[in-house]
Amino acid sequence: MPHTPRDFLDEARRTISEVSVEDVAARRTHGDDFILLDVREKDEVRAGYIEGAITIPRGFLEFQASGQLPQTDTDVVVYCASGARSLLAAQVLHTMGYTRIASMAGGITRWKEAGYPVVRDRQLSAEQLERYSRHFLLRQLGKKGQGKLLDAKVLLVGAGGLGSPVALYLAAAGIGTLGIVDADVVDRSNLQRQILHTTDRVGMGKTESATLAIHALNPEVQVRAYPERLTVDNVMALFRDYDVIVDGSDNFPTRYLVNDAAVLVRKPVVHGSIFQFEGQASVFKPHAGPCYRCLFPTPPPPGMVPSCSEVGVLGVLPGVIGVIQATETIKLLIGQGEPLVGRLLMYDALAMRFHEVRIRRDPDCPLCGAHPTITELLNYEEFCGLDAAEPATIGV
Ligand SMILES: [Zn+2]
Repeated sequence: MPHTPRDFLDEARRTISEVSVEDVAARRTHGDDFILLDVREKDEVRAGYIEGAITIPRGFLEFQASGQLPQTDTDVVVYCASGARSLLAAQVLHTMGYTRIASMAGGITRWKEAGYPVVRDRQLSAEQLERYSRHFLLRQLGKKGQGKLLDAKVLLVGAGGLGSPVALYLAAAGIGTLGIVDADVVDRSNLQRQILHTTDRVGMGKTESATLAIHALNPEVQVRAYPERLTVDNVMALFRDYDVIVDGSDNFPTRYLVNDAAVLVRKPVVHGSIFQFEGQASVFKPHAGPCYRCLFPTPPPPGMVPSCSEVGVLGVLPGVIGVIQATETIKLLIGQGEPLVGRLLMYDALAMRFHEVRIRRDPDCPLCGAHPTITELLNYEEFCGLDAAEPATIGV
């Protein structure tokens, strides 16, 4: 009499032990060293799998096991959809000489019913595969990193000199959502450095012009335009919705507002500023490194800075600093490299020199120190000799 499926499974159970989904979950929580092996077909895996599992479809097990599981004493828990195929696969592995093999009873179906999470690999379109192909070749980025960029939300404060290269390079890199705050309109005098904008868009709102430029480069990017000033009333709600804030502002009220709000909602700020031929950049990651107030606890008193609005600036200067800001943003999002946290990078265009200074958290910082005195947003318009009635422009 031929074997029924039940006969095969009963036979396998005589040599293979079964573990419950709860046991597997508990072992993962404890950080036990074992391998989860998914033996389902590729299209089943695509619909969701247990994070960290390796995948060998059962039909390839005899051919691929030794490649993916070189040690026969590796502790392996095999799973499939319901626990039947994994039992038979475990039996095959046992026959191949693997000594510590178990099968997860009930499979991923029971795993999900028990409320444990599954992950899905992002499906990239043919167009995305081509567009980001040079990223996929980088080990530190790859499809996983690109997925993080595509899921990311970055807020640019200012669509001016710094915001221009930041917006263009982040759009090119495939950042999923770019928010842009800027209340200004494009002026002909901006075009010497603000490469997001064009001569035929003079007079147009900067966020509208930026949206056109970004979509011409990468139509896939979701642009959220905020043609308004950043204020104490809108900043908190705006920042909460983003992963990284890029500060491209050119005035102290906005810089302190950005810093304070970011620390209060614990979002990293990629800082950049420029003046004539010099620029600087840093990353202010709340509570991991210093904030802007750790360096400069209070804004300069009115009259101490020449002007918050018009100073001369070499047109290419914001290109250099903005590209550094875009680089740091991408590094933060993909979690690679050494960010500019606790470091202030300074650039002198005339000397063509970079130098770096260590910056430390101030334990007495009024904002991020041990006993903060600033626990909510302040009135920022009094800074810098600005009349409260005269709004600060942003965007260099
Ligand atoms: Zn601080």
